[in-house]
Amino acid sequence: MSRPPSVDRLARSLSDTGLPHPVLVAAARRAISAGAPDQARLEALRLRDALLRPVVNATGVLLHTNLGRAPVEHHHPAEASNVELDLETGARGSRHSGISQLVALATGAEAAMAVNNCAGALLLALAAVAGDGVAVAVSRGELVEIGGGFRVPDVMAQSGARLAEVGTTNRTRRRDYEQAVAAGAGAVLKVHPSNYRIEGFTEEVPLGQLAGLGVPLLADLGSGLLDEACPWLPAGPPPWLAGEPAARQSLAQGADLVVFSGDKLLGGPQAGIIAGRRDLVARCGRHPLARALRPGGLVLAALQETLLAYLRRDGDAIAFWRLATASVDGLVDRAERIVARADVGQVAASEAVPGGGTLPGRAIASAAVVVQGDHLAELRRRERPVIGRVREGRTWLDLRAVEPSDDDEVVAALRGGR
Ligand SMILES: *Cc1c(COP(=O)(O)O)cnc(C)c1O
Repeated sequence: MSRPPSVDRLARSLSDTGLPHPVLVAAARRAISAGAPDQARLEALRLRDALLRPVVNATGVLLHTNLGRAPVEHHHPAEASNVELDLETGARGSRHSGISQLVALATGAEAAMAVNNCAGALLLALAAVAGDGVAVAVSRGELVEIGGGFRVPDVMAQSGARLAEVGTTNRTRRRDYEQAVAAGAGAVLKVHPSNYRIEGFTEEVPLGQLAGLGVPLLADLGSGLLDEACPWLPAGPPPWLAGEPAARQSLAQGADLVVFSGDKLLGGPQAGIIAGRRDLVARCGRHPLARALRPGGLVLAALQETLLAYLRRDGDAIAFWRLATASVDGLVDRAERIVARADVGQVAASEAVPGGGTLPGRAIASAAVVVQGDHLAELRRRERPVIGRVREGRTWLDLRAVEPSDDDEVVAALRGGR
């Protein structure tokens, strides 16, 4: 029997992977002890695949949770910033004061704060407004699971609030909420069912008709559309957005607090926003959970940049909106050029979707490069993985969520180069 190769020599032979030496030593050890030293490279690459790296999103799903939802461009120098310093007084400040003022301007809220995600925002809002067993009225048609373990009744239970189910799965009326409040409910929660829809014999109470019940009205909007009028888009709201509830209009209709995600239609970093009445936002800020859910300076800075772009009415500065509103003709042109340069595949009309659990059943016209066969695995194995979709035995690379600067990557991927 030949002696196994030295761990160190084997690890050194993998240095071109760019991984730190101790990582390569671990991979080499694992392969040698499995009696397969020639598998060491595979072991190392498997580990590298577990690390985050940029990919090309050619799935046609703009907000793909597996791909980090909204793409955010952000540069953050290794510098201190006034996260919790009031520059005017020199005293300790609130990490939410900047975000609060920007969200207020963008939505008409009195105040706002940011936490780690929308699940955290709802948890905190419920705990602050209705913890200690206060009953919260929710329609049975809105006790939804959004995905990734987010279930409204479970979040409610964790918040310490007590769920008061009203109405039925398909029909809920204002009188159902009135009765719940008369029976002691201390708040009403309206949940945007997001990726779920009931059709047929249904009835729900629009948010505006839930105002004036005499208890705080909370709305979990999920998607994070700031304003139905989309003043940051020169052409106004795109047709696929119709009917999506927005923060500004929800507050105007009487919601006392709205919560929404930072990385869905807002197009920012992963975050959750709580916005609305000043006293209720302050109550959220004082709750002990606020400390556990607070975002760091990196996220606050990226969120601030996103909100400033909205206030400049510069939708092009927000990658999600730039990609979502790119013209179909432009996408077709790009697809044609890609096919010509790669000398493979053909151009096809495609339907992209917003994704992120928002706007189910809504399509955004798009263009794709389509090639025969299933090439997903080899496209994923590239240095810069290209993530596509397979339909009816053909690989679809939808350009809706692909930055034009990544077209070269798509061409190289189709040519089979690295
Ligand atoms: C997506 C969504 C959530 C969860 O948002 P995260 O930011 O992923 O925590 C909560 N509520 C609704 C209605 C949603 O659509």
